[in-house]
Amino acid sequence: MVYRWRARKSNFTVWSASRSETVERAKTHVAKQNRDQLVESGVRLQWSCPYCEVASQSHDKTKGFEDFKDHLFSHKKPLLESGVHVADDIDGTGSVAVMSKVQSQGADNARIHFLSPGNIVIIVTTHPADRIQLLKNKFNEWPEWTVVMTTKSDPLSGLSGIELMNIPVEVVELDKKMGLGNLTETVSRVIQEQEPKGGKITFEFDVLTELITKGQLQRVFKFLHLLNGRLKKANVLSHYFVDQERMTSSMNVLDPVFNMQIKADGKLFLRK
Ligand SMILES: [Zn+2]
Repeated sequence: MVYRWRARKSNFTVWSASRSETVERAKTHVAKQNRDQLVESGVRLQWSCPYCEVASQSHDKTKGFEDFKDHLFSHKKPLLESGVHVADDIDGTGSVAVMSKVQSQGADNARIHFLSPGNIVIIVTTHPADRIQLLKNKFNEWPEWTVVMTTKSDPLSGLSGIELMNIPVEVVELDKKMGLGNLTETVSRVIQEQEPKGGKITFEFDVLTELITKGQLQRVFKFLHLLNGRLKKANVLSHYFVDQERMTSSMNVLDPVFNMQIKADGKLFLRK
């Protein structure tokens, strides 16, 4: 179950599998939006509600602030929804940029969220063993078919207790010197093979940060434009991880090739 809270007047949205964390993040947002309703004088914290007649003051500033947040949220609770998916916002198809370090809890949560609608899962990664392990640990059952594409030599090293021959997973080794054009063609071929099965395809791309770091931004832009065009034709839901701290300015350039940008932060997904 995934929860969502969305501000009425802005794009601010938070999603999480944790209801309490969703609510806490929403409360913080609402309090921040209304910080001009707070007055500190000496040891006292005073506040008044912009939505009703309630006003209060407290000598315990921490408690006063918590009361303020709780009270404001009492007006905003109807905006909390459950049983949603982040991709509902893009009708379940298209490309999402996920700002997060590739190897992190937030990224793993995003993977589970964005791959789980898929009967067929395609992953481009330099950490193939970790990805297969995650599917095993976090999915109730294996997707019908999974294709893991990687440049890593000896891709299954580190995978314990899983024999590839016993699971519905195929590993495709990519040439380390492969250009972006060939990569698009290879992904396209995999999709062409999988499409006739008729299931929903979900796609994960882990190596965008490396591409941006190494390549020219315009070439990366063109690559993503072509790849996303191909994926869209097959109704694929795709997500791309981008290391947010290093990539803010590049993402301004690449923004048009994505249908949505979110940030993965622990158990939370955020959109501003
Ligand atoms: Zn009120």
